[in-house]
Amino acid sequence: MTDPAPASPPPTTAPARLTVLSGPTAVGKGTVSAEMRRRRPDLWISVSCTTRPRRPGEVEGVHYHFVTPERFDELVATGQMLEWAVVHGVHRYGTPREPVERQLAAGRPVLLELDLQGARQVRVAMPEAQFVFLTPPSFEELVHRLVGRGTEGPEERERRLATARQELDAVTEFDHVVVNDDVTRATGELMRLMGLQEQVA
Ligand code: 5GP
Repeated sequence: MTDPAPASPPPTTAPARLTVLSGPTAVGKGTVSAEMRRRRPDLWISVSCTTRPRRPGEVEGVHYHFVTPERFDELVATGQMLEWAVVHGVHRYGTPREPVERQLAAGRPVLLELDLQGARQVRVAMPEAQFVFLTPPSFEELVHRLVGRGTEGPEERERRLATARQELDAVTEFDHVVVNDDVTRATGELMRLMGLQEQVA
């Protein structure tokens, strides 16, 4: 009598395919994502759609797809958004579904940079993803960064800080917490969580 072939053990070292990076406003999600892209050009980072106006220096298709509210409605109605949310009470942001699925199917590591509402939706839609919370060293540091970047007026700044206070409380919902005390260090930690090695040029 022969024993049945043993089931192959589950992979323990395989890199997580889909990683969601979230955290409060101005914590540096965009900066960490850009540093990830610089260090690992093979990493695929989703480009979101947004109804917010383009800021100086932002490029269509690179930073965002800037769409009209009507076009955003259409993308939602036709099921083309993996997740979407009204962020900071004003504009809508969403992740186009098809490119994410295509990149995952091709075996590329994928990073989504989302607000908390979006992260929660992806947890429902794709529970196998890993969820990383980027947090500032302190709330005071977050205020300092938001004022320092100067891209919002006082009213918008207050709105974002109010959201940030609530968002910081959600840290316990995440698989991992990365403190953004230093962009290089925080990026290195995220790379390790994604199972990515530094690529030497
Ligand atoms: P900003 O207007 O400063 O570019 O982005 C505002 C916020 O929207 C950030 O917290 C960013 O993480 C979030 N965000 C950007 N793209 C998306 C998206 O596709 N979905 C969701 N839910 N949030 C997003």
